Amino acid sequence: KEFAEISIKDFDLVAKSSFPLCMRHLFEKLREDHHLKHGGRMQLGLFLKGVGLKLDDALAFWKAEFSQKVGGERFDKEYAYSIRHNYGREGKRTDYTPYSCQKIISSTPGVGDHHGCPYRHFSEENLRAALCRMGVNGGAVEDVMDKVRNRHYQLACTLTFEAIHGLSCDAGINHPNQYFSDSQKTLKV
Ligand code: SF4
Repeated sequence: KEFAEISIKDFDLVAKSSFPLCMRHLFEKLREDHHLKHGGRMQLGLFLKGVGLKLDDALAFWKAEFSQKVGGERFDKEYAYSIRHNYGREGKRTDYTPYSCQKIISSTPGVGDHHGCPYRHFSEENLRAALCRMGVNGGAVEDVMDKVRNRHYQLACTLTFEAIHGLSCDAGINHPNQYFSDSQKTLKV
């Protein structure tokens, strides 16, 4: 819903300000490589659907990236189907819902995959670098790393949210789309 008014060209800004780290990472990799493997396409695609990206815009968005890598024709043949599928327009016509944190945290990304939860699946070095790029500094980084060491990944994400937005998030983060809408609410105040 909130995304309906945000045009595709504003994605980069919104991704930086309001995407949780798991989605921001996928988004940046997609922009960089013009490609994501299946697990990443599902995780990011359903998240974007959840924030209000319509099917036609989703097709245009993914095509703009993938066609730089595999060409528009191959995109139409091999990838457009699964995007329509996510929107319940193909196959069993199930209207798929975005993944929760729990589902993402328990996924098992392999080599070359970019899905999953960075708090669980990144190396310490990569996570520290990613937090720095998000604008989390000093003691806040150590607080996040402390939660990670104790395997409290959603609490680590909640602390990141609080550090970036400068306010407390008492309910905690349990869904990437909740992170997004809470962030947008904060920024629009
Ligand atoms: Fe994404 Fe949830 Fe992990 Fe945060 S805790 S990075 S929202 S999966």
